[in-house]
Amino acid sequence: MNSPLDALPNAADVAIIGGGVIGSVSAYVLAKAGLKVLVIERQDIGSGTTSAAAAAALLQTKTSIKKLALANQSLKLMDNLHEQLEGRFEFAHTGSLLAACTDDEMQLIRDMNANLTDMGLEDVQLLDGWQARQVMPILGENVLGGSYSPKDAQINPLDLVAACTQAAKAHGAIFSTFTELQGIEILGDKIVAVQTSAGRVLTETVINAAGVWAPRVAEMAGITVPVFPLKGELLVTERMPPQMRGTLIAAKYLLSKARAEGESGSETPKRSVGITLVQVAHGNFIVGSTRELAGYDRRSTYEGIHDLVHQLLDLTPKLANIHLLRAYAGLRPLTPDGSPIISRTPGLPGMIHAVGFGGDGLAMSAITAEMVLGMLTDSADKALLAEFALERFTTSEATH
Ligand SMILES: Cc1cc2nc3c(=O)[nH]c(=O)nc-3n(C[C@H](O)[C@H](O)[C@H](O)COP(=O)(O)OP(=O)(O)OC[C@H]3O[C@@H](n4cnc5c(N)ncnc54)[C@H](O)[C@@H]3O)c2cc1C
Repeated sequence: MNSPLDALPNAADVAIIGGGVIGSVSAYVLAKAGLKVLVIERQDIGSGTTSAAAAAALLQTKTSIKKLALANQSLKLMDNLHEQLEGRFEFAHTGSLLAACTDDEMQLIRDMNANLTDMGLEDVQLLDGWQARQVMPILGENVLGGSYSPKDAQINPLDLVAACTQAAKAHGAIFSTFTELQGIEILGDKIVAVQTSAGRVLTETVINAAGVWAPRVAEMAGITVPVFPLKGELLVTERMPPQMRGTLIAAKYLLSKARAEGESGSETPKRSVGITLVQVAHGNFIVGSTRELAGYDRRSTYEGIHDLVHQLLDLTPKLANIHLLRAYAGLRPLTPDGSPIISRTPGLPGMIHAVGFGGDGLAMSAITAEMVLGMLTDSADKALLAEFALERFTTSEATH
């Protein structure tokens, strides 16, 4: 996407480490606001976890007010971004349907629905099996019902990153790809420069947007940031004529996500599966995903493919003869409490972290970029920032 020979500037107002969805959307928002932005990306733009995202921005799967509010605000900002960039990335409010195949799953969806209404998400409707099949005819007869959220959206992650990179460059941002951050120079409580594989750049502000690699970037400044990888395997099918609009979500997804992302109060299991299904504009279906603690291992597994296919066919037997084109995996950057860290560093205010978005990085990218800009221009919503501060983890875990 970008030449590795992009010249490294001598100085920048802000050095963003990582050209994933968080780094690239932030680069656009900051450059547009007039800051001299440098993005340092050790591979290519969008090549980290962003390249594995399943293309959904979901509201009705959020189990806390804090995450729902963030996702809701982010979707509104995404509408603006889509308009500002003249529709240069695939994005639409295609809706989502959460589907149940058993009575227990239907009860879970009813409870979830009541909770969402209490948290202020309007427009989510409970459907019986017949109504669910009217919304998504691809569903099997065994689907008992579900919940439909019309505002939920579909976003093409690589499109979004490419559009933001191009627009950020038009506002003067520099993207140094195939360039690795190797050190951060600090004097007292101030950052003075960053060292990269392509040279040294003077800067007083570093944004850590390095996804699952964020702890290593933080370590360069002597900081501990609690982010760890949660592996997710996905499948891509051959192209088919349009058969569905919006995201289909298995009720099992709610359990899998809540357990794995620390929301259920129970311990993270080694592995769980809860699928989502989208059909992208080109006609391929994307089936996501497993949740597994497997370190930095990104290999697809037989068990992963088997479990995804099994759950898919439970919901949509009509896809039984479809060909799989590809299996792949990505690493969700997760924090111990499942919420992101969008925060300055205590004792080193020039270092800002925008990390730990788990399975919601696409959905939360637009609001994150605005919050980072708010921190840099002293115009941030302080109550909102307090919810996502690094300090919520113990001082020994997370300070300079
Ligand atoms: C299976 C799966 C499905 C998902 N589905 C969805 C979905 O449907 N919707 C949604 O909202 N989210 C989804 N997500 C989550 C989403 O993909 C992530 O939250 C998001 O991509 C994180 O973006 P990021 O910019 O923080 O990290 P990344 O995209 O990983 O970017 C970080 C970048 O930092 C670079 N980097 C690291 N260290 C250095 C260094 N020292 N020097 C220079 N560069 C460095 C890396 O090369 C990388 O490109 C999914 C994730 C997975 C795994």
